[in-house]
Amino acid sequence: HSAEQDGTRWRLHDPSQISEKEWNLSLLGELDDALDAGKIWVAYQPKMDLYSKELLGAEALVRWTHETRGPVSPLEFVEMAERHGRIDRLTDFVLNDALKVAKTVLLTKPEFRISVNISPSLLTSHDIMDTVKAALDRHQVPPSCLILEVTETHAIAQNETPSLLMAEFRDMGIGLSIDDYGTGLSTLEYLRKIPATELKIDRRFTQDICENKADRAVMKSTIQLAHALGMKAVAEGIETLEVLSLLARMGCDTGQGYYIARPMDAKAFLARMAAEAEQLRHG
Ligand code: C2E
Ligand code: MG
Ligand code: MG
Ligand code: MG
Repeated sequence: HSAEQDGTRWRLHDPSQISEKEWNLSLLGELDDALDAGKIWVAYQPKMDLYSKELLGAEALVRWTHETRGPVSPLEFVEMAERHGRIDRLTDFVLNDALKVAKTVLLTKPEFRISVNISPSLLTSHDIMDTVKAALDRHQVPPSCLILEVTETHAIAQNETPSLLMAEFRDMGIGLSIDDYGTGLSTLEYLRKIPATELKIDRRFTQDICENKADRAVMKSTIQLAHALGMKAVAEGIETLEVLSLLARMGCDTGQGYYIARPMDAKAFLARMAAEAEQLRHG
């Protein structure tokens, strides 16, 4: 796979050309049109069960292939959508695409689970619950096949609504993942209180575990911490076979990263899943 194909060769804006404000405003004006025109799409990156080595899940990652600017990073336009009241629409779009794809995969892999990123700001209102319920209903997939990934933030730990919403999602059978764990401000108090099912350790702690003893120690104890709290440990950013093998030996449950597979469009992803299901069927 080339970087072009998975849409990760971002063309970040050149500050010498236009001001950041101008850049953001012009992009914002185009966001709705881009959604209508299908320029915004969803990539899928497989997640591997490190015990069975099966691809039992995937993360939905939003992409914008801009007509003149090329691929725009989600880090850039997701934040913009958050600030300008477009995150509801964007999340609804990603969720529906993801559940449509999941429905197809579930036909051959009943244990498959799809992960969707949810901006922490969405957890301050009950609207997200309606969005999720409506999407599950529309695609007729069980709530248990959905995992919502939320980045750890202080705001979440401080407010009551996010915890209540999360508990409600959990009661429905939806999985909850603490994304980019280790980079935020989460305290042990936060970890103990949050009703998460999965601890997703940020890639900066994954990448050097083979060479760096301290990173290895942090990874190992984080996996143990996740398990002690009844959560699955997930590592992101696996780029080599060595890292993958070491994580499996450490008891990490799930892995995600370029070594396993790059994010790809729905068509390529479904083809990959079908090929894997076929292979398993025939030994
Ligand atoms: P994230 O949720 O932590 O997603 C993982 C990011 O790591 C993705 O970047 C993925 O392409 C990248 N990645 C995966 N494997 C590797 C690897 O082996 N090495 C390296 N270096 N990177 C790897 P991406 O797609 O650029 O997304 C960036 C962030 O944008 C995501 O981080 C997430 O926070 C946000 N995002 C993406 N899609 C959505 C969405 O639909 N909604 C919201 N709210 N945020 C989204
Ligand atoms: Mg994520
Ligand atoms: Mg992450
Ligand atoms: Mg990350």
